[in-house]
This record gives sequence, C-alpha cells and structure tokens, in this order.
Amino acid sequence: MISYNQFFQKFTGVVGRMEDAARRAGRDPSGISLLPVTKTHPKEAVEFSGRAGLGRIGENRVQEAAAKRSEVRGVPDLRWDLIGHLQSNKAALALEVFDRIQSVDSWKLARRLDRLAGERNRRLPCLIQVNTAGDPRKYGFDSGQLLEDCEQLVHFEHLEMEGLMTIGPLEGGRDAARRAFAGLRELVERLRQRTGLALPELSMGMSGDLEEAVAEGSTLIRVGSALFGERDP
Ligand SMILES: *Cc1c(COP(=O)(O)O)cnc(C)c1O
Repeated sequence: MISYNQFFQKFTGVVGRMEDAARRAGRDPSGISLLPVTKTHPKEAVEFSGRAGLGRIGENRVQEAAAKRSEVRGVPDLRWDLIGHLQSNKAALALEVFDRIQSVDSWKLARRLDRLAGERNRRLPCLIQVNTAGDPRKYGFDSGQLLEDCEQLVHFEHLEMEGLMTIGPLEGGRDAARRAFAGLRELVERLRQRTGLALPELSMGMSGDLEEAVAEGSTLIRVGSALFGERDP
C-alpha cells in the first residue's frame, strides 16, 4: 500500500482532472462528487480517504466491505456504497454493510431490497445500473427496456431512487466512452419526464474516463486506481 503522502498527491491530481473537465464543460465542480473505490486495497485506503475528507467509500463485494468496515478505526461517519453485482443470497448482509446500493441491476433484486428494507423499517437509497454499452459481459438494465418499464421505478415503497449508474465501455476509446455517457444522460432526462422522479445522481466515470463522464453531466465519479495505485490482477 502506498503512503498517505503518495495517496494525497494522487488525490490532488484526480481533483485537478475533475475540476479541469468541469471548467471545460462550463460546469460547477461542486456539483460533482468523488467516490474513492477501495476494493482489493487494505483498510488504510479507507482511512486515507476519510483523512482527506472524503465521506463515502465504494466497494464492489459485500464480504470484503463488511470486513473492512469493521476494521477501520478513527474515521467517523463514513457512508458505504455498493458498486458491484449483488447476489440475492447476500442482499440481507448488504443492507447491514451499505448505506446505498448503486448496482441495482434487475427488478428482482429491486423487489428483494425493497422487502428487506421494509422489514428493517428503513429507506434504502439506490441507483439503477444501466448497461449503456450493451456489453453481454456486464450487468445492468438495457436502456430501452428500462425506459419501457420505467413506471416500476415509482412502486418501491422503501427504496429511494436517486439516479443511474453505468460503467463505461472497455473498448472504443474516448469517443465510445463519451457516447455511452451521453446515452445515460439522455436516459435519465427521459426517465425524469416520464416518472416525475428527481433522479439527481448520474454515477459515471472512473480513473480512465472521468473527463468524458464529467463532460456528459456526471455527478459522481468512482475512482480506484488513480487514487490508490493499480490493483493486483
Ligand atoms: C473498480 C470499479 C471502479 C474504479 O475503477 P478504476 O478504474 O480503478 O478507477 C469504478 N466503478 C466500478 C463499478 C468498479 O467496479
């Protein structure tokens, strides 16, 4: 694991990239949050994030996050976001570990989370994951299908639908990323019109494509390797 000083340099670099991209897009950078993604990195990655003033942590596996969350010391009031696929049999544990689920990728999962949240008498903030690239290797709703079925979004009593999340395409470079992110922005605009929901969050952009995401209206970039170094494969 890198040192805090090394992390802080990387953090400053990422914030600079985000602010430059916002300026080029004529956007106020304060409308864009940075979610540090600490998956595969030790608990120090979480502690560094907290020390730097980042209030949220992104993890993609339930058990890994549960372990880290119980180990982390001296960082009060962190909120944890799940950003990876959630298996049904881990949904109950996910509700204990996470404050928000960004990876709601099926109506079946949404119904289960709604029921579990109701049983626990809480409201669960959620984002709907969209497979903008139509990549069969990725989870998420098909954009057209989500638009067709969008009246479902207002029927979950215990889920707070905050917006959409996507992972940019792995291939095709900057143009493909930009197109995918533009597609998510257009989709959220249509969903707002059709459902009347505010859906304020557009979670898109990672270490390699945050500029394209900010240009297309991202409100939340999820950054791992640019903050903590490369992950072991
Ligand atoms: C790992 C991961 C990220 C961060 O990826 P980097 O390229 O390391 O910034 C963002 N979002 C999701 C869903 C991830 O799984």
